[in-house]
Amino acid sequence: MSADFRTAADSVATVKLLIDGRFVESTTSEWQEVVNPATQQVLARVPLATAGELDAAVAAAAAAYPTWKNTPVGTRMRIMLKLQELVRRDLKKLAACLTDEQGKTLADAEGDVFRGLEVVEHACAVGSIQMGEHLEQLADGVDVYTIRQPIGVCVGITPFNFPAMIPLWMFPMAIVCGNTFVLKPSEQDPMTSMLLAELAIAAGLPAGVLNIVHGGKAAVDTLCAHRDVRAVSFVGSTPVGTHVYRLASTHGKRAQCMLGAKNHAVVLPDAAREQSLNALVGAAFGAAGQRCMAISVGVLVGKASEWIAEIVARARTLTVTAGNEPGADLGPLISKSALARVRALVAAGVEEGATLELDGRGLTVAGYPDGNFIGPTIFSGVQPGMTIYREEIFGPVLCLVSVATLDDAIALVNANPFGNGTGIFTQSGAAARKFQNEIDVGQVGINVPIPVPLPYFSFTGSRGSKLGDLGPYGRQAIQFYTQVKTVTARWFDDAVSSDRVNTTISLK
Ligand code: NAD
Repeated sequence: MSADFRTAADSVATVKLLIDGRFVESTTSEWQEVVNPATQQVLARVPLATAGELDAAVAAAAAAYPTWKNTPVGTRMRIMLKLQELVRRDLKKLAACLTDEQGKTLADAEGDVFRGLEVVEHACAVGSIQMGEHLEQLADGVDVYTIRQPIGVCVGITPFNFPAMIPLWMFPMAIVCGNTFVLKPSEQDPMTSMLLAELAIAAGLPAGVLNIVHGGKAAVDTLCAHRDVRAVSFVGSTPVGTHVYRLASTHGKRAQCMLGAKNHAVVLPDAAREQSLNALVGAAFGAAGQRCMAISVGVLVGKASEWIAEIVARARTLTVTAGNEPGADLGPLISKSALARVRALVAAGVEEGATLELDGRGLTVAGYPDGNFIGPTIFSGVQPGMTIYREEIFGPVLCLVSVATLDDAIALVNANPFGNGTGIFTQSGAAARKFQNEIDVGQVGINVPIPVPLPYFSFTGSRGSKLGDLGPYGRQAIQFYTQVKTVTARWFDDAVSSDRVNTTISLK
């Protein structure tokens, strides 16, 4: 049994479905190509699963649930322990697949897998974090305790930009808590998910506990409305996530949707200059800006505005090429349409009066004439009303805004509807503390540009970057993937005098 992408019938590989423990060819007539964004080579064809296949995946998950729910927690954790061993063993293979289908550099791809692996490691400890609470003697002979039980069939819908990490944010935590899962990875780069699924099956997951289907809007809508689905986790763009949240909620599902972003880094003039500017440039252009935690706005406070030329000079040194080329700092955008969109936004920035300090649009990459490349692009003099400030660009474009004071910077960030992440660069503890206290953004870096919390915490993007109360991984994921049952219990002790019997318990 394997997720092998080759097929005898066709020279182009096909991406399989995983239903009830078997990797199967879809019977659909609708297929899309998975394309290497640096070369345009067609790597595989991905099916848009039929309604029957979607239903079969949910049915397999529903059938597996009662047994999996009652599988001892130690057994579930040991499967995760094995999965972490296998992911660690295959890290380079997974990263190579990821670079091929997504475009990011091999170093970034390894980071993508590794950050997911850390969630699997955390899942291995679920026994100590899924515990309930117990309080004895709430009344005479009465104890009350809570148990955290799984909820049933959970669905995960993931974006293209972290094809390993984000699926691993979802299914290991859901499954280790005793749920069964249907994953719908991005149809733009589904192959890494299939390799992860192969490892999960090899680690010992019983049939039906993890299922994978492919598709776009139709598949997502079917899963969000399916009567046997209890919870939906989504990570992706704001318009789609808003739709998913409404649809899933309307159908009575528990839903968490992590959405788009516009992350600001505030640079004070007392910042450690070398480290701060290097960090700013790395966070703006790494992974070609296709990170939900990319810094897309640099807010230069006071004399820090004099550092624009230095920021541009650093950005010029970055090497843009295919992700698997040695020395690559950033690779291509995911698709031709993403490239066209980013180019159009850069044109809008010029039209609306921002100063184009560095223009990546003319870039040619030796050996990759067809790649979806755009080089680092920097605007200064950006104003909040401009399209390039309002829209999430999701490309290697940094908007620089100059303000006079830290208060102005805080007001600017807080007025932006997104709340995924932000950072401050300063050597002043007082300034950093004020920022941490007053900023209305869910994840804050202090001299750290991309403050993605490790899995012992949770991902806590906020405001316009999130719908639903609970975030992915960490304790919040345990809360999301379990429901609390509160038990009030009284046991009668025959040895105790009979006047206890039939006594009405008062909890007042
Ligand atoms: P996307 O919204 O286009 O796609 C996400 C998922 O939704 C995919 O599986 C896709 O198949 C599905 N989908 C697409 N269109 C749909 C529709 N009309 N109806 C229902 N489902 C649909 O996002 P993307 O382009 O793959 O990923 C990039 C976006 O994800 C960016 O906005 C980025 O900020 C965001 N993102 C957010 C986080 C976070 O934690 N907040 C993390 C990573 C990415």
